[in-house]
Amino acid sequence: MTPIFGQSNAAIEQLQSDRLRAMLALCARGHPWYRRQWQELNIDVAQIATVADLERLPLTRKQDMMLSPEEFRLRLPDLPLHERVLWEVIYTTGTSAEPTPVYNTTHDYHAYLLQSARVAEISGIRETDVIANLFPLTPAPMGAFIRSATNAYAAGATIFAALPGAKHGAFDVHRSLDQAVRSIALHRATILWGVPSFIRRVLLRAIESGSDFKSVRMCAITGEASSPAMREEIRRCLRELGAQGATVFDRYGSTELGAFAQCCEDSGWHNPAPEIQFHEVVDPDTGRRLPDGERGALAVTHLDRRGTVLIRFLVGDMVSMDRSPCPHCGRNGDRIIGPIVRAKDLVKVKGMLINPAVLLDTLQSLPEVDELQVVVQRMDAQDEFSMDELLVRLATNSTDREQLAGVIADRVQDAVRVRPRVEFAAALDIYDPSSQTKALRFVDKR
Ligand SMILES: [Zn+2]
Repeated sequence: MTPIFGQSNAAIEQLQSDRLRAMLALCARGHPWYRRQWQELNIDVAQIATVADLERLPLTRKQDMMLSPEEFRLRLPDLPLHERVLWEVIYTTGTSAEPTPVYNTTHDYHAYLLQSARVAEISGIRETDVIANLFPLTPAPMGAFIRSATNAYAAGATIFAALPGAKHGAFDVHRSLDQAVRSIALHRATILWGVPSFIRRVLLRAIESGSDFKSVRMCAITGEASSPAMREEIRRCLRELGAQGATVFDRYGSTELGAFAQCCEDSGWHNPAPEIQFHEVVDPDTGRRLPDGERGALAVTHLDRRGTVLIRFLVGDMVSMDRSPCPHCGRNGDRIIGPIVRAKDLVKVKGMLINPAVLLDTLQSLPEVDELQVVVQRMDAQDEFSMDELLVRLATNSTDREQLAGVIADRVQDAVRVRPRVEFAAALDIYDPSSQTKALRFVDKR
């Protein structure tokens, strides 16, 4: 076990407080957004000496960072090269038309390597593993895709990518489901790394085609909420394939903070690097910290970053926290306890967080649209594990429906990065104004 997890919580918090003071001092010198906020609110950040004092600082909302991501980057030209040079930019998926960039310096990349090595240690990923990166190749670089390689490097494991996803771009580089199945068998992959609904499709196709998946021992899933039933379904497929193991490791994480780790399915999510980030559960309206065990909003504070730096950042998930030693592995430090529930204004569709309000705005501005409704449902209503489908129902007087359907699909894809199916209906079928009820413009049928 890494020594930090054997230390007392008081010792871990002491270390976190030391890092926090240094982080806040850097922000006070070179973080445009916090400098302005602290000035406006008359906050002397030098007074924040411990993680307990952190409660006196305001929360940072996702919207704040989305509106001005550049303002959240440290600007300190006097730092050593590795602390200021840009290593990679990854993007949080669309809650607005433009995805939000998160900047990582070399220093941050190394921190992520450390964090990934810890995740590997906690969740049992080994040097001998062969990881199949099944995340889609998306228009903006997604953390889950980019970081799968970093996770493999950190564990000393082997990795290859299947490159699935909706086709875009001029070079025709996306590959099919069948090619993913073939690569997994060919490379004798031991870990399948991707979103659960796609992993399931891969497994079903492997069963259908009689592919040899005996090497697989674990599925590391992320990007979609996964129910116990979905995990059991994945295990059922693995057993049917005669796989050497059937562990389903749920990688809770986000672009802004990276991944957490489960030591077993019921352990909650360990903070793999408490010296890099501090977690608290708060009342999202007042910023008050809630006691362990009480459910509230997860807020994260970076303790040692140099690119995008976030203080008391509301990730958008409702959770609770446990700081007692893990009953399964004995590690100290904090664990996030589920169920992890996304904040209500965002909806996850096909692994992308989308904002229904932005989506409707995009469509309601089209003159050809008389009535409309957006529906999120399962592709196959009879199959509870089926992929999500985004459906736009539309009433129009336009004579060229095919052309309009294309325009709508493009607009929605641009706005929320998910391509919808478009269906035409009579205006009264979508909304009957004589019904005296409020029109339902966004329906989640899952
Ligand atoms: Zn544990």
